[in-house]
Amino acid sequence: KLPDGALGVQFEHVTFSYNKGTPVLHDVSFALKPGERLGIVGRTGSGKSSVSRLLLRLYNIDSGTIRVGGVDIRTLRLEALYRRVGMVTQEVQLFDGTLRDNLTLFDSGVTDEAIMETTGRLGLRKWIEGLPEGLDTHLQAGGTSLSAGEAQLFALTRVFLTQPSLVILDEPSSRLDAATEAALQEAVNQLLRQCTGIVIAHRLSTLEKVDNMLVLGEGRVLEFGSREDL
Ligand code: ATP
Ligand code: MG
Repeated sequence: KLPDGALGVQFEHVTFSYNKGTPVLHDVSFALKPGERLGIVGRTGSGKSSVSRLLLRLYNIDSGTIRVGGVDIRTLRLEALYRRVGMVTQEVQLFDGTLRDNLTLFDSGVTDEAIMETTGRLGLRKWIEGLPEGLDTHLQAGGTSLSAGEAQLFALTRVFLTQPSLVILDEPSSRLDAATEAALQEAVNQLLRQCTGIVIAHRLSTLEKVDNMLVLGEGRVLEFGSREDL
């Protein structure tokens, strides 16, 4: 049901609370067209990561509508959503399966050569080669034998290999050292060329090439518009 190619996003009057408590997002509306890049900034706790979690339907919203590719995400099968929306967050979601399955999301069309090429480029190859069972290593949901930085590279590698139509980068380099971060920046720019992108960042410098900016404050939209307008 989702259209092919880059996917647009619409938040329409979205209000959301965790566990039916105080809303952490109040009447949030914004839109981005297919292929556009949106930057989200705001202070700690302003609701940036909550916006990204809602796009993957990790929680149900209290009111309003979220559309991806013009489709209300409540009507989509989760597998369809996960296949098209890739996310690199401050943590990585692992599930029961081999390392290969975790990197390819069970897409058997992704070859081991492609995996090793991408992990080589993104700096995860040494870690994989150090595992006795390599790509056949069994991983468990929730289990982490990865450092925080490795987890971030893991999520990024997965996004590269599965080529989603919408990519959400939630502070993707927050746990990387400066040298790794610099090497990663070019890879991320290349990735965003082919799809719609949402980039969440504390520092504005990482948001140089966005089309629109969303500024959140205490769960509300403080500003939304092109960078020049703000
Ligand atoms: P940061 O810049 O620190 O990453 P953020 O803008 O991403 O912050 P969110 O993680 O979206 O902020 O959190 C928004 C609010 O929701 C905060 O008040 C936070 O305490 C609350 N919150 C986040 N996750 C949960 C959760 N799983 N259960 C309950 N409350 C949560
Ligand atoms: Mg966050």
